[in-house]
Amino acid sequence: MSIQVKEVSKFYGKQKALDALSFEISDTEVVGFLGPNGAGKSTMMKIITGFLPQSSGDVFVNGLNVMEHSLEIRKQIGYLPEHNPLYLDLYVKEYLEYVAGIYKVGKNKKKRVDEMIELTGLGLEQKKKIGALSKGYRQRVGLAQALIHDPKVLILDEPTTGLDPNQLIEIRQLIKNIGKEKTVMFSTHIMQEVEAICERVLIINKGQLVADQASNNIHSIKESHVLDLQFTTDIPKHLLLNITGVERVAQGPDHCYYISAKSDIRAQVFQMAVDNQLIILEMKSQERSLEALFQELTKQ
Ligand code: ADP
Ligand code: MG
Repeated sequence: MSIQVKEVSKFYGKQKALDALSFEISDTEVVGFLGPNGAGKSTMMKIITGFLPQSSGDVFVNGLNVMEHSLEIRKQIGYLPEHNPLYLDLYVKEYLEYVAGIYKVGKNKKKRVDEMIELTGLGLEQKKKIGALSKGYRQRVGLAQALIHDPKVLILDEPTTGLDPNQLIEIRQLIKNIGKEKTVMFSTHIMQEVEAICERVLIINKGQLVADQASNNIHSIKESHVLDLQFTTDIPKHLLLNITGVERVAQGPDHCYYISAKSDIRAQVFQMAVDNQLIILEMKSQERSLEALFQELTKQ
């Protein structure tokens, strides 16, 4: 297991940013870490990389407790922070050589830097100052520095934020390729990105895990049946939850209920209403977009 997060909570003063979060990521998995702004993604990633201590719980990377072995962990992890703090006055190649020095890449330093420049497509930009690069190329420099010491685990915090559509496609492909050999966890608030890059998605909201799915399953949830119902009165939720195939029930205003189910349950809902002498005012089947699904999973 590459990454193990066990019941991790984090408080910033009184504010709880992570709430007993647990998950595991195995070797060579590429996992999308999805959640709205403020969900706790960056906080979790800083804790996994040893840059921030958790308030409680344990994190292991390649079997090592991050709190106890933070230096060793940093050798094994490549990290692209959210606000990729590059030295704008350094030249691309100079900066990467500097980073290679910090990680003690050794006498292969120059070769390794050249390989990273090649891998991340920085060939034409390598003699430029980082400050002169576009956002997409700065992200590539960030990726190159994260990869320079050949870490087994890559933690990328919103690697595609601020890229134009062409850059997006290229960086996504790059992450996908890297993921063939390494464990990659990348955060995003864009649902489609998860489908484009990875095999599995962890969705968090308000510091809690709300879904852990194979990303092709996102499609199947998306295609699951959603029913909007309105009754004349509030009804006990369990009447809906007891119907075979019902997965989730959320209650809205004006006696409305939103149901997700594995199959078409309209007939059973109608029967349940008759059996319980409930009056259905409205019943509507819905197609769900990925965004709507995301919203549903992450709403309060
Ligand atoms: P995300 O990366 O998912 O947008 P963050 O991990 O950055 O979420 O933030 C989670 C919550 O913790 C937010 O409410 C944010 O305001 C708060 N937070 C993050 N960093 C700090 C900090 N250094 N001090 C105080 N609160 C913070
Ligand atoms: Mg963040």
